[in-house]
Amino acid sequence: MTIKSATIAAVLLASAAAVPAFAAPLDVAATKAAVDAQLDRDYPKLDALYKDLHQHPELGFQEVQTAAKLAKEMKALGFTVTERVGKTGLVAILKNGEGPSVLVRTELDALPMEEKTGLPYASTAKTTWNGKETFVDHSCGHDVHMAAWIGAAKALVALKSQWKGTLVFVAQPSEETVSGAKAMIDDGFFQRFGKPDYGFALHVGPGAAGSVYYKPGVLTSNSDSLELTFNGRGAHGSMPAAAIDPVMMAARFTVDVQSVISREKDPAAFGVVTIGSIQAGSAGNIIPDKSVLRGTIRTYDAGVRDKILTGITRTAKATADMSGAPAPDLAIIPGGKAVVNDAALTERTAAVFKAAFGKNAIAIPAPGSASEDYSEFIIGGVPSVYFSIGGYDPKVMEEAQKSGKPLPVNHSPFFAPVPEPSIRTGVEAMTLAVMNVLS
Ligand SMILES: [Zn+2]
Ligand SMILES: [Zn+2]
Repeated sequence: MTIKSATIAAVLLASAAAVPAFAAPLDVAATKAAVDAQLDRDYPKLDALYKDLHQHPELGFQEVQTAAKLAKEMKALGFTVTERVGKTGLVAILKNGEGPSVLVRTELDALPMEEKTGLPYASTAKTTWNGKETFVDHSCGHDVHMAAWIGAAKALVALKSQWKGTLVFVAQPSEETVSGAKAMIDDGFFQRFGKPDYGFALHVGPGAAGSVYYKPGVLTSNSDSLELTFNGRGAHGSMPAAAIDPVMMAARFTVDVQSVISREKDPAAFGVVTIGSIQAGSAGNIIPDKSVLRGTIRTYDAGVRDKILTGITRTAKATADMSGAPAPDLAIIPGGKAVVNDAALTERTAAVFKAAFGKNAIAIPAPGSASEDYSEFIIGGVPSVYFSIGGYDPKVMEEAQKSGKPLPVNHSPFFAPVPEPSIRTGVEAMTLAVMNVLS
């Protein structure tokens, strides 16, 4: 049976008691119309929440006020809220009969940088970060995600008679340090709240507001850092026989490690090793006693990642051996793991996005090089779709394309998504994606 949009809108407007109807499959047009009716009434509140969050940004694991604001909203909607999961994270659960459980994630954190957008609601907030005073700015758009997260929760509560199952709304701390999702999982997320059957997350980015972008399979990269110290023996520059030269080792390693990429991994597989920093010595006539190299390692596939890490370790040891030097100190600092979208769930969700947004539902052709820790929930066993929404005024985007002037991207001090169309699209897309698996 199909529910017509007029029926749902009427039910919502009258705030009537639950209708016994239970729709399958999802009537996308009717549901979108109902979500829009809800947004028409409720957007001013979401806008006020967005601007409040924007003007009071907090850094990773400091998001106490931000989490409290979201907790208050979710409690008012009837969710059971658990705070301080993974330090500052929160989990809000709403049970609505027998059915699958669905995780919906937002991030809570902002970035340690100054906002330069000149917007009337621009952030002037400051805090202490690593012992230094710094400005704080939601320049990644996590405030848009929080407003859309609350908006989707409101829409799903209003449409409660149209779906069955459990909502697991997760607000995670410290995404920017790619450690907040893991902190929640290490704090017993799966043991305490169960393993959701499906998961969704969204990110606002440099696209036209009103657009939704999706891709099955790999979406973002594995990102690891390396820090390598070659331990040599210092001596006068004229007496190399008295030294073990760490500059030579640094140079040799930097060149040789690229053969791990060109000769050891499958040439068709994505993999990058970049040595971006070499530090050694202070003068031309002194052979220093050590050199320190720092780099980044990017991959999509876990097997390729293992192969590259093994190759880096072996090359570092062999380089020291060749010089008769002691073993080097190598630290691989794991960063975000690749987000891999579930193929079947993406196909199912993309069908709804196409029906709802037409040509503004856009398939992403290739994975990006950025990293994101939502992958921790996927690796934990939650088949998921992580999708994007555009944040720019389509007219501004068109002008930028004509003039060739680049628009500010996420993490730019000028990044300024247009609130209403971005948040509304986020609410629509998220609500439809969730209802599609619960109807
Ligand atoms: Zn970011
Ligand atoms: Zn972000």
